[in-house]
Amino acid sequence: MLAVLGSSALVVGDDERVLKASAAAYSMGLLADDRFQSDELLDLIRKTRRDGEVRAAQLVFGAGPRALSLAARVAPLGSRLVLVLIEDRTREKRVDEIRRDFVANVSHELKTPVGAITLLSEAVGEAADDPEAVVHFAGRMRVESERLTRLVQQIIELSRLQGDDPLDDPDVVPVDAVVESAIDRVGVDAASKSIAVVSAGRRGEHVLGSKSQIAVAIGNLVENAVAYSPSQSKVTVAVARSGDNVDIVVTDQGVGIPAREIDRIFERFYRLDPARARDTGGTGLGLSIVKHVAATNGGDVRVWSEEGSGSSFTLRLRAHAPADSNAPANRLDGPNAVEKRQHLEVR
Ligand code: ADP
Repeated sequence: MLAVLGSSALVVGDDERVLKASAAAYSMGLLADDRFQSDELLDLIRKTRRDGEVRAAQLVFGAGPRALSLAARVAPLGSRLVLVLIEDRTREKRVDEIRRDFVANVSHELKTPVGAITLLSEAVGEAADDPEAVVHFAGRMRVESERLTRLVQQIIELSRLQGDDPLDDPDVVPVDAVVESAIDRVGVDAASKSIAVVSAGRRGEHVLGSKSQIAVAIGNLVENAVAYSPSQSKVTVAVARSGDNVDIVVTDQGVGIPAREIDRIFERFYRLDPARARDTGGTGLGLSIVKHVAATNGGDVRVWSEEGSGSSFTLRLRAHAPADSNAPANRLDGPNAVEKRQHLEVR
């Protein structure tokens, strides 16, 4: 009977020893030598044994990041035994917290442009007899509403990504076409800063995953490379084969990212310099979208950066065709570069 129950089930004897437990109960670490390691749980068991009442409680077992959130139900089993059912709710609780955080962040981020538009519209109203001021405020209103549009678009993209599983039925995605359209998309911004955006490396590669998601991710990396680079610099999008994977490496000669910030840039809404982000229209969501796309498409994303000299983001995806063992290795980073580059895998 214990084996068919969905939750972890244990039968406790009158000496508080566990007489029988399902495998899941042991794997939680609740037991040592057939004795409960949780005082809270023992307390529940004693009470139920005393009065025969069925009890339910939420417990926290352990401490720190490995703490488990458990839902326990305790019931008498005949006159001598007690049945304990435990469900591990740790994951649900964490997902709930993340969702709550996300909603709070979204509301906070939306307030800024909405507030600005409200103030600007009041200013337009008050400056009705001053055409120059009206034009000025209207221009700023446009900037704020563009920012709002981008923010809403990225929030929708991110929430859509969270429910998707492109690995169920992956597309065969031609890397060249996706890279080309990402480069096209930044054309105007790059030209206005005289930044050359070029593609390099292997041609004709295909990867597995969702075409639209991969296009968004590469687009975000190329957009960032242009946004965080000075004029007259160069951005390269290179494709390389690495075993059964394809690496798409976006390299810039821009401002770079300080080492202490590098593992935070993939967090949602994280911006290095929020004041500057207001100018560039940055939302802090671009890289967290890239991270999600990598994860849901069975790949990963890594970053190397040096403050003042540039950054290089590598999106690794699963190749459509297996590696060609006769082809020469096509590495983008030489042996010295590898040592210099601290590639950080994003968790
Ligand atoms: P944003 O919309 O602000 O660009 P992202 O999530 O795309 O948001 O990036 C988060 C932060 O990481 C940015 O605010 C920026 O400071 C930094 N960043 C991203 N890409 C680059 C890059 N290529 N060079 C330098 N800094 C970058």
